[in-house]
Amino acid sequence: HAKACGRAQVQTYTDSLADALDVKLRLERDLRRALTESRFELAFQPQVELVGGRTLSAEALLRWNHPEHGLQLPGSFIETAEESSLIVEIGDWVIDAVAATAARWEKLGLDQRLAINISPRQIEQRDFFVRLRDRLAHHGATPRMLELEITEGLAMTCGETVFSEMAALRNEGALIAIDDFGTGYSNFSRLRDMPVDQVKLDRSMIADVTSSEQARAIVHAVIGLIHGLGHRVIAEGVEAREQADVLRVIGCDAVQGYAVAMPMAEHEFLRWADGGRKALIA
Ligand code: C2E
Ligand code: MG
Ligand code: MG
Ligand code: MG
Repeated sequence: HAKACGRAQVQTYTDSLADALDVKLRLERDLRRALTESRFELAFQPQVELVGGRTLSAEALLRWNHPEHGLQLPGSFIETAEESSLIVEIGDWVIDAVAATAARWEKLGLDQRLAINISPRQIEQRDFFVRLRDRLAHHGATPRMLELEITEGLAMTCGETVFSEMAALRNEGALIAIDDFGTGYSNFSRLRDMPVDQVKLDRSMIADVTSSEQARAIVHAVIGLIHGLGHRVIAEGVEAREQADVLRVIGCDAVQGYAVAMPMAEHEFLRWADGGRKALIA
């Protein structure tokens, strides 16, 4: 009987492995189809200055309009995309959509930038920066409208070539941001030498700033450190007005989060940039 039990377990294990593989393959197939059927969209979430309330930029966040399962957030598919080469194709779609949007906004006279999330696999492509410039030029947008978000992990591990390409794009007016700061390990001398403009503190880092004096002390010190290196600091995942108040007092430059605004469709963002924000920040 014990043997039978063992067998059954092995059976279950291999079955669930096969199931997992199946789920992944199905997801990859669906993502590929989503690309050809134009089922991706972007949502835009404002990044707002803590003093003065100016909207500096909008982070472009990927959305997948699934025919049966409805709106899908990146959490349900980006990892699978990153494990395959699909992230490059999806990333190309995002870049093209952001470039088109940037051109529209520039024509409208908006002074908000578009922040775009870049995966390691994308940026490590030899011709990544060539293609990025090509898409911008194609739509009539300039690097001045862009902000590249690369994660802390990528920032700490990327090679010299990526570094110098980022520096070149920055010279053409783009901003470089370190995303999800505080979730990995940072080497501060590397952070000093990087072509970086701003650092985005991860939500986990600022979650307790209103309730914990220690958390507040850490964030305060980290902000001082980043300022000392000459970069601006933006806090992400700010869900309560009180968090924004604390962050303002300890010198954080800008915030992004539900307390300010949810990610929204482009037409909503345009209305927001046009004055809707005043009511929320004042
Ligand atoms: P991220 O770049 O750190 O983006 C911030 C995430 O936090 C977004 O989730 C946003 O909707 C969410 N968020 C904003 N404010 C709040 C808040 O107050 N509370 C909480 N709990 N969450 C908040 P989203 O849109 O689901 O995206 C998740 C992640 O997926 C992003 O994290 C980014 O790493 C990745 N991602 C999104 N769009 C793209 C893309 O176009 N390309 C790539 N490569 N990755 C993307
Ligand atoms: Mg981001
Ligand atoms: Mg982040
Ligand atoms: Mg993230």
